[in-house]
Parts: sequence; structure tokens; C-alpha cells
Amino acid sequence: MLPPERTMRQRIIELLIGARLSSYQLAHTLGIAERLIEDHLPHVVKTLARDRTQRFVLEPSACSDCGFVFRNRAKLTRPSRCPMCRSEEITVPRYGIEPVTK
Ligand SMILES: [Zn+2]
Repeated sequence: MLPPERTMRQRIIELLIGARLSSYQLAHTLGIAERLIEDHLPHVVKTLARDRTQRFVLEPSACSDCGFVFRNRAKLTRPSRCPMCRSEEITVPRYGIEPVTK
């Protein structure tokens, strides 16, 4: 049997294929804390980095007030504040997995 950690990551991957989900939606669907989803995500990204048939997609957070998009953010989680206008109205990032097209 697979260790539980591995199983949870596998389930996250299955949910993300062809979808766009926030960590809240993943947590809700899997019945675990959002914090745990955020812990698993970097490993999911690593797993997908080795996969030649599909890739991890991050739909970045954006500022609701000025429209700034957090494209170059290294972390996967939601930023707390906009660097341009200091607003805290930031949309949640969403994650997905898409097939690689050649
Ligand atoms: Zn802003």
C-alpha cells in the first residue's frame, strides 16, 4: 500500500487534471486543512516537473483594486498585499494540470 502522504498527493493531482482549483476548494473536496494542501503543492509541482505528458499550471493571484498580477511570485500561496497599491484585496491563486501539447 502507498503511504498516506503519497496517496493524498495523488488525489490532489487527479483533482487538478483539466481543472482550475484554489487551495480552499482542494481542501474542502479532500476534507483536509488548507494549510496541508499548501504543504503538498510544492511536491505536486515537483512530480509534474518530471512528467513529460502533463504540466502544472498556476493561475496567479491578482490585485482586485489595481489589477496587478503576481506573475513572478515564487511561492504558490496567496500574497497578503499588493506591492503597487498596498491593497489587501488579492484574489486567490488557482492551480491546474494540463496536457503538454507539442
Ligand atoms: Zn494593487
